[in-house]
Amino acid sequence: MYNTQTGSDNSLPTFHNVIRGDIMNKDIIKRFWSKVNKDTGTDCWEWTGGHYGLHGYGGFWHEGRNHGSHRIAWMLEHGHMPPDDMLVCHTCDIRNCVNPDHLFTGTHADNSRDCADKGRSKCTFKKNEAHPNCKLKDQDVKKIKFMRDSGATQAAIAQQFKIVQSTVSRICNGNRRGV
Ligand SMILES: [Zn+2]
Repeated sequence: MYNTQTGSDNSLPTFHNVIRGDIMNKDIIKRFWSKVNKDTGTDCWEWTGGHYGLHGYGGFWHEGRNHGSHRIAWMLEHGHMPPDDMLVCHTCDIRNCVNPDHLFTGTHADNSRDCADKGRSKCTFKKNEAHPNCKLKDQDVKKIKFMRDSGATQAAIAQQFKIVQSTVSRICNGNRRGV
């Protein structure tokens, strides 16, 4: 806004604010990534800092309050905080994961739909899916069995799910993860 008394336009960021913001961002970036373990053997990056609430999300102190570390990871990637009414969801389902490639924003409705799709009633992991290295979701196992019953070859199924044929064979013969 242009101030007619001083002749200055205080809607523009002042030099002081720009510098302060810059230092603050550098501090956040350093503080944040020092608590991340990228060497997990998966694409997921593990948050090793404190936790936020009791639901398995990482927590990060920023501007006087605790935030979900996945929301901060999203902010560092996009340059601003996600809108308050938007959730930051995980494509990988690992709540402790802060790899920005695994994060997307969605509404609460999207999230409940996503949970319902994955067969999770209260957004908790199903036992067989809990391990980060677990490639196939229970839903995939069901789909594999369905495809097999519908006459698809094991080779075709293996190709679709990017797994080896012997895994398909074990699933179809019921030696692995009965669902
Ligand atoms: Zn992940």
